[in-house]
Amino acid sequence: SYRKGGYHAVRIGDPFNAGRYIAQRKLGWGQFSTVWLAYDTQTSKYVALKIQKSAQQFAQAALHEIEILSAIANGDPSNSKCLVRLVDHFKHIGPNGQHLCMVLEFLGDSLLRLIRFNRYKGLQLNKVKEICKCILIGLDYLHRELSIIHTDLKPENILLISTIDPTKDPFRSGLTPVLERPEGGTLNGGSAMNIIEKKLKRRAKRAIANISGRRGSLGGEVPKLERSLDGVDVKCKVVDFGNACWADTQFAEEIQTRQYRAPEVILQAGHSFSVDMWSFACTAFELATGDMMFAPKGAQGFSEDEDHLALMMELLGKMPRKIAIGGARSKDYFDRHGDLKRIRRLKYWPLDRLLVDKYKFSETDAREFAEFLCPLLDFAPEKRPTAQQCLQHPWLNLRTSTHDEMENQPNVKNLNVGISSLQIKVGK
Ligand code: ADP
Ligand code: MG
Repeated sequence: SYRKGGYHAVRIGDPFNAGRYIAQRKLGWGQFSTVWLAYDTQTSKYVALKIQKSAQQFAQAALHEIEILSAIANGDPSNSKCLVRLVDHFKHIGPNGQHLCMVLEFLGDSLLRLIRFNRYKGLQLNKVKEICKCILIGLDYLHRELSIIHTDLKPENILLISTIDPTKDPFRSGLTPVLERPEGGTLNGGSAMNIIEKKLKRRAKRAIANISGRRGSLGGEVPKLERSLDGVDVKCKVVDFGNACWADTQFAEEIQTRQYRAPEVILQAGHSFSVDMWSFACTAFELATGDMMFAPKGAQGFSEDEDHLALMMELLGKMPRKIAIGGARSKDYFDRHGDLKRIRRLKYWPLDRLLVDKYKFSETDAREFAEFLCPLLDFAPEKRPTAQQCLQHPWLNLRTSTHDEMENQPNVKNLNVGISSLQIKVGK
């Protein structure tokens, strides 16, 4: 992809926009772009520099994204709406052509990395609530004030706000990447997350060594640690407006990333703001459990779409006939009674039971969380609550009791518990 029309190759120290920005390290990449950490010499701050591929269709897409990002920034002068901020944009000419570049405020790791960091065990419900509030503030502003649909909401596209100070111990700075100084000297090898992981492992080894008097006496086994997100402010922002659109303009039919796709998109029954609410519910579930809510797979005899619809009905009940047969693609999947043509036997496993049985939620936590999520997963898009209505939901504003927190989702504070139980084993 590093050829004419493709990505622009960047080396650390490369200057951009007449020397204002200096490239530091790669932060990530997407289909259309590479994203670099850069030092802004004008403001002495770090920024994210998104460099688009140069071919005409990518430039067109970047112009669209800049238009959306500008509308977001113009309507929110205080930068309080939990959406990534566009700082600047310009053109950069390189060997592969002319690249549109977006300068964005520098953010930290994505929620996907946060979920991975937590070993796919799900975050404490109080953290989930904080994150949900941020996302909803962003969606409410986007939908109600700007009439924009994001269309690609998912954990990967929600980034933690970076509170990193490169001079401080990354262990206390959250999950943010470790920076390199503008001169090029690396402050730390690897990401902060790797460093935390190493620290935890080292601590655990030391703890075992203290108990047994000998390093690695448990066959090198390191006790499974829960990781603390206590130091992490989970405030976050929604990013990636490359697929966003104004609700009243003609938009693509095939939107959203598979697992976060709403049923009306699969059935091609028309869509609006409420597709974001569906994706939001899928994201909240994933944060709380560590698993995707729907992970459809195609197989012999049926497609990914059919599996997806079946999974939805197993969790949420039968799709009302009118909705099932109401889309341009309905005939491909449903018979005239509104039953799936090729997947006949469905095992109903409702959300609150799933949360208790599979994810070991307490009855209360499961019921409350399901009451929050289920309306968002209504098969009738117009019945789903808006982001504004969702923000009023009591679940978001009631802290889950600490007792449940400790019991269901232990964090690093429980390290001592883990080690004393280990001690008993060693003692025997
Ligand atoms: P694309 O539209 O090409 O998918 P994205 O906007 O999703 O590009 O950015 C690609 C990746 O770059 C993201 O997944 C993320 O890892 C990183 N990234 C994007 N924006 C920022 C930012 N503001 N701060 C830090 N990292 C970012
Ligand atoms: Mg992306």
